[in-house]
Amino acid sequence: MSVSMRPPPAGSRSPAGGLADRYGRRATDMRLSLTDKCNLRCTYCMPEEGLAWLSKNQIMTADEIVRLVGIGVDFLGIRELRLTGGEPLVRRDLVEILVRLRHNHPELPISMTTNGIGLAKKARALKDAGLSRINVSLDSLHAETFRALTRRPFLDQVLAGVTEAARVQIGLVKVNAVLMRGINDHEAVHLLSWAVASGFELRFIEQMPLDADHGWTRENMITAAEIRVRLEESFLLTPDLRQRDGAPAERWQVRAKDAPDVVLGTVGIIASVTEPFCSDCKRTRVTAEGKIMSCLFSREETDLLGLFRTGATDTDIAQRWSEAMWLKPKAHGMDHTGLGGVDFVQSDRSMSAIGG
Ligand code: SAM
Ligand code: SF4
Repeated sequence: MSVSMRPPPAGSRSPAGGLADRYGRRATDMRLSLTDKCNLRCTYCMPEEGLAWLSKNQIMTADEIVRLVGIGVDFLGIRELRLTGGEPLVRRDLVEILVRLRHNHPELPISMTTNGIGLAKKARALKDAGLSRINVSLDSLHAETFRALTRRPFLDQVLAGVTEAARVQIGLVKVNAVLMRGINDHEAVHLLSWAVASGFELRFIEQMPLDADHGWTRENMITAAEIRVRLEESFLLTPDLRQRDGAPAERWQVRAKDAPDVVLGTVGIIASVTEPFCSDCKRTRVTAEGKIMSCLFSREETDLLGLFRTGATDTDIAQRWSEAMWLKPKAHGMDHTGLGGVDFVQSDRSMSAIGG
């Protein structure tokens, strides 16, 4: 297929132009990183030490965030927003940002991905500010394994946070887990039993090559197929037939083997490496310092914050954003790495510095 390098015009108040790309996709789901800082050091994401934080002046202010989301929603057809990081809860003005976003966009689904540290204290305020849904990351239910994986001893805080988020009813609480071979992969069934008993939707995420230590290998990662085999040793899994609609997780209904008529819950598996869903991707990512990344694995970044700070109009910014998305790559090519493939080069940014 021959592709034009010119983006469609942006700047109208209809999503007709929007964030389209050369391959017929349209991004409507905005992932916005509020900070690069984090209070954990998950081995698959950050280094133990030595990652310098951005300075306060380098990251977007609350005003800039509110303006940027407004441009996305009003000019470019953004229909869903996820706040992430780094750790979004470490941002002191998080509740203020949420209140302002909710005021400007009463119907916009706004979700957040968090490690849960400090969530127990903030869940009520987040709910009242208008947060629609929350994902809490939790890879292990054992204190020692949690400490080994996150390099911090805070399992109890995360458990308290996820429990409080459910109590104040920030939507259906989802739990994200990454399985690491020889560390927590034996916990797959335990995590699912706990999640269904607690009323959380568990989502396993395949480990991706986005760790600052560059320790990921294709051979060592736990694949979605392996996760399903492990879960099926204890549960019956049947495909959840609800439309996937660009969602990254493939969902399965969970039943006990001795009571197959009762659905205990749902589990999602995000197979970004082995079963990529690039052709249906609807995401546009913005880093904490206001750079557009058209793909999690993109090595190209488009600076919008510089435009903000040199007096650009909303139309200029919408235009630059749509140009960046027009060049979104067709696919990430990640499953070729380590297998002699040539089309994947790991990003210089760790997941914490992009926004997962
Ligand atoms: N700090 C928050 C948290 O951990 O939930 C939000 C940011 S974190 C980067 C977002 C999600 O990315 C988490 O669920 C985390 O487990 C996941 N993640 C981080 N590094 C990853 C990697 N290399 N492969 C797969 N998932 C990863
Ligand atoms: Fe922090 Fe989240 Fe990365 Fe863990 S996955 S180090 S909690 S940003």
